[in-house]
Amino acid sequence: MARKISLVGIYFDGQKFVRTEVHTVDLDNEAAFLNKLAAKHNMCREDFAVFDCTNSFPPAARVEAVSVKERNKDLEEGRLKVFKCKDCGRFWLLYRDEEDWFTERDLSVPKRCVTCRRKKGKGEKSYESKN
Ligand SMILES: [Zn+2]
Repeated sequence: MARKISLVGIYFDGQKFVRTEVHTVDLDNEAAFLNKLAAKHNMCREDFAVFDCTNSFPPAARVEAVSVKERNKDLEEGRLKVFKCKDCGRFWLLYRDEEDWFTERDLSVPKRCVTCRRKKGKGEKSYESKN
């Protein structure tokens, strides 16, 4: 018998971060399920944060109180930016320290989400130089 787990995801609704409903899924199907759930909420899978709340009660309250709140605060205070991918149109996240990483290397901030960037090739060569 497949073991089931309860999951909650966090996504950007166009204005702020919100959480999904609690989803109970077979552990065997977890990866495929999460790919679909991220797509449904128009999030890059890499930036679609998922929390296992199988053993917490009420299942999603903690995610809401801590993670959603924290992300919205980061967004409001400019530590986090949300972009729409140029290729797939999904939302992806950029934290200020990541942005600094690009700036310090004189690279322009990516226009694509992590998934699309990976498709294009690995490593720094895939980033666009400013010059
Ligand atoms: Zn993309």
